Amino acid sequence: MNLILFGAPGAGKGTQSGFLINTYHIPAIATGDILRAQRRAGTPLGEKVKGYMDRGELVPDEVMIDIIRQRLQQPDAQNGFILDGFPRTVAQAQALDEMLARLGRQLDAVIYLRVSRQVLIERLSNRYTCPTCNSVYHFTPEQAHNLPRCPKDSSELYQRTDDTSEIVARRIDVFLKHTAPLIDYYSAQAKLENIDGQMSVEEVRADITRRLAARKRVGAR
Ligand code: ADP
Repeated sequence: MNLILFGAPGAGKGTQSGFLINTYHIPAIATGDILRAQRRAGTPLGEKVKGYMDRGELVPDEVMIDIIRQRLQQPDAQNGFILDGFPRTVAQAQALDEMLARLGRQLDAVIYLRVSRQVLIERLSNRYTCPTCNSVYHFTPEQAHNLPRCPKDSSELYQRTDDTSEIVARRIDVFLKHTAPLIDYYSAQAKLENIDGQMSVEEVRADITRRLAARKRVGAR
């Protein structure tokens, strides 16, 4: 299964990728996590992307396309993958199509999690992230005074530098301007599954499962 999880920042891509990994036994490739790991390790790539990320802007296409090209060659991605955070521009989507065509592979579906701007802002402004396992949690400002540790690995949770209100607004604008055109791009390829991302985590999960199963049935006919 070759999937893209698509949606604005805060739409729930990371949350849903967890169950897809376990259901289909394929890796999630989250470009934001890859970039943050490079930054933490202080690599030249990490240095290069820092400014773009902190301003809520997109990292240049050629940098991201290179990262994905290398990542898709890894052994664990040979039976499928879940892309989270890529593609974010039409140029990235075209490059991905070319890469997959060369490998004789194709996308099975693009899962678009649709969420209103107001809900995105609410979710992101109280979001805390685990630096070790990348899980996210939500706390009110009062709860955040006494922040618990990650229940999975006891790491100290932190608020991403780009999850502050001004940068969140910019990231959503960048999504609308540069990334939302991919809705038409993938609709035209009949790959898009347009899902209400404001339902509960469980309901979104059930909807994704239903739609992927329906696609499989049609594909098997
Ligand atoms: P979000 O919560 O906005 O979905 P991510 O963790 O996916 O955040 O990405 C964080 C930042 O990393 C983005 O704002 C952008 O600067 C950079 N980034 C990640 N993926 C891409 C990409 N495919 N193209 C350009 N920039 C990217």
